[in-house]
Amino acid sequence: MSQSFSSHSPLVLILLGPPGSGKGTQANLLKMALHLPHISTGDLLREHIKKKTPLGLKAKTDIEKGQLVSDHLILEMLVERLKEPDCVKGYILDGCPRTLFQAQSLQAYFKDQITPIVINLDLSDEKVIERLCHRLVCANCGALYHLLYSPPKIDGQCDQCLGKLIQRADDKEAVILERLKVYHHQTAPLIAFYSQQNRLFTLSCDLPKEEIYQTILEKIR
Ligand code: AMP
Repeated sequence: MSQSFSSHSPLVLILLGPPGSGKGTQANLLKMALHLPHISTGDLLREHIKKKTPLGLKAKTDIEKGQLVSDHLILEMLVERLKEPDCVKGYILDGCPRTLFQAQSLQAYFKDQITPIVINLDLSDEKVIERLCHRLVCANCGALYHLLYSPPKIDGQCDQCLGKLIQRADDKEAVILERLKVYHHQTAPLIAFYSQQNRLFTLSCDLPKEEIYQTILEKIR
């Protein structure tokens, strides 16, 4: 389904939620429906790591330990990306903000001209672990697979681009537990931050992705 939103102010959608709650999956579906770019700070960082940029080299250790990359580096990288022309009509933010400081900085950047819609994708810790331990990602196009629920047609190969499927270094169980700890400590407080501003919709993510996607579209309307 394709939607077109004829609002004059940009449509900014923020996807909040623990790792593995489906932010990337939903952002991929929504970007096609809304004709907006999907901006994942995790993907941007992985791109920097691949290219061995100074930012990538600084971020790599934090990511592999399940820690957050510093607010300063994230905000600098994000603002650069938001200046690109495809962001004029809005964008879908996946995995950012992740700290109160990032949320406040983003708000200052919006200068009352943008009121983001925040979708909080809720998932229990048990489900997060179960999802991430079995997650595979295409090293080429980033498509996501789950070994039990949405396996690739051919073992180890992406259905879409035939790229190689890998497990992310931070999808190992010890790192997942650390990422969850970091999520509860640093990111979960954003739920209160945005709900105080009446900008937040919480959805349970233990549902089929298509159902979650349709509900998000209804909330945006
Ligand atoms: P993701 O792909 O969103 O799960 O992000 C992977 C990793 O990148 C996270 O575990 C963090 O180490 C880092 N990261 C991504 N986005 C942010 C952010 N907004 N703030 C700090 N670290 C981030």
